[in-house]
Amino acid sequence: MEHLQEPSFRQSVDLMFNRAVALMDLPPGLEEKIRVCNATYTVRFGVRLRGQIQTFTGYRSVHSEHMEPVKGGIRFAMSVNQDEVEALAALMTYKCALVETPFGGSKGGLRIDPREYEEYELERITRRFAYELIKRDLINPSQNVPAPDMGTGEREMAWIADQYARMNTTDINSRACVTGKPLNGGGIQGRVEATGRGVQYALREFFRYDEDKAAAGLTGTLDGKRIIVQGLGNVGYHAAQFLSTEDGALIIGIIEHDGALIDPKGLNVDEVRAHIAATGGVKGYNQGTYVAEGLRVLEHECDILIPAAIEGVINMHNAPRIVAPLIIEAANGPVTAGGDEILRQKGCVIIPDMFANAGGVTVSYFEWVKNLSHIRFGRMQRRQEESRHQALIDELERLSADKGLGWTLSPGFKDQYLRGAGELELVRSGLDDTMRAAYQAMRHVWHERDDVTDLRVAAYLVSIDRVAKAYRAKGL
Ligand code: NAD
Repeated sequence: MEHLQEPSFRQSVDLMFNRAVALMDLPPGLEEKIRVCNATYTVRFGVRLRGQIQTFTGYRSVHSEHMEPVKGGIRFAMSVNQDEVEALAALMTYKCALVETPFGGSKGGLRIDPREYEEYELERITRRFAYELIKRDLINPSQNVPAPDMGTGEREMAWIADQYARMNTTDINSRACVTGKPLNGGGIQGRVEATGRGVQYALREFFRYDEDKAAAGLTGTLDGKRIIVQGLGNVGYHAAQFLSTEDGALIIGIIEHDGALIDPKGLNVDEVRAHIAATGGVKGYNQGTYVAEGLRVLEHECDILIPAAIEGVINMHNAPRIVAPLIIEAANGPVTAGGDEILRQKGCVIIPDMFANAGGVTVSYFEWVKNLSHIRFGRMQRRQEESRHQALIDELERLSADKGLGWTLSPGFKDQYLRGAGELELVRSGLDDTMRAAYQAMRHVWHERDDVTDLRVAAYLVSIDRVAKAYRAKGL
């Protein structure tokens, strides 16, 4: 298989798109309009650091503006290039349509290894990159709203928001120019965990359907299921942590950039993360077996494989050796089009990235709405909800006493019932609802249409149809 030519990330996304549109009846020309990337801006800028000017290259790609603002993360990595940014921007279009967030698709990236720089240097570089994008409305609350991605987080988003506010001093909605901000900088509770939480909700929904589990040869619940996760960053850590501590799954393998850990009894995700934070990798961790060639662990036996690091890790070369019956694409594009074909033929069920990792953009949407409405979710209703619940409890207790019924409410029930939902509960509820609705839309197409045999094509069909309808509504 070594001689096989792997398509680029961009080509992979196009191939998957083509497989779906072949099953659709779009008006002539619309298919091409949806597929192409509208614009990609490349910027090279200099920053004076350590006594000399260093030049950096960054991108912001806008794939589709059928809805505005467009939305998509900003990635800091040495591997960033135009092809990758465009592929990721396209995925954002389909992802937003699938989970019904009212955005077009975009993505940005800066070619940089953030670990090479001090914090104050990174701040100068980020602000300068943001300045270049803001100047051209490629960061703007009503036109283009970035978010974190690989190599960026709350800190970078706070710098970007501040840079925008400095350049737009009278824009009352300036905080909505970027999402994934820290809580005290206009962020929302539950955003950091959102993508990993979404992966958990996606798996829970999958496991609600016997027919879907049967397609992967699985039964039962998530309890006791053996999981291997690649990448213990924001997405991988939260997914693995929630699935192991809340659903009883066993994290039997963790693959990181310096190797992997395996333990059939299940690894403690928090402890492994602390070890990575302290030492920079998984090597030297005192539990389980360390495997230097981490990628080979993707091929180990497990029930669920969660690639949550980078694209292209499952491809034509290793797909024949992958034995996991269920793969959930927490990263963007971890399975190439070639790998996808091999796995499908083997009967592996793949929960596709555009759905699986949509938790991030979903909660980003909530954050953007919060910023535009200038009020925290739940602030108006919470106490009112509590007082209505209190009235019901009082009435039940009065009835019980009056009639001598001797009713007592079970321990914990009263507390749980009386507590009105705060922002975090509302965000989680909105995310759960979104993931369930999107999964149901996908599985409906998967099971109803004879010509659809996998969830990825089903996801593309749902989202392309919605994008096409949006274009048609605009008169295109
Ligand atoms: P991150 O930088 O927090 O974590 C990435 C992790 O993967 C790090 O721990 C890194 O060491 C590890 N890693 C990198 N290369 C690896 C390799 N070759 N093998 C094994 N491990 C490797 O990034 P993240 O935000 O968790 O993003 C991960 C993926 O999820 C990306 O594909 C990203 O586009 C996607 N995603 C992220 C979000 C989000 O909200 N952060 C939302 C949607 C999709």
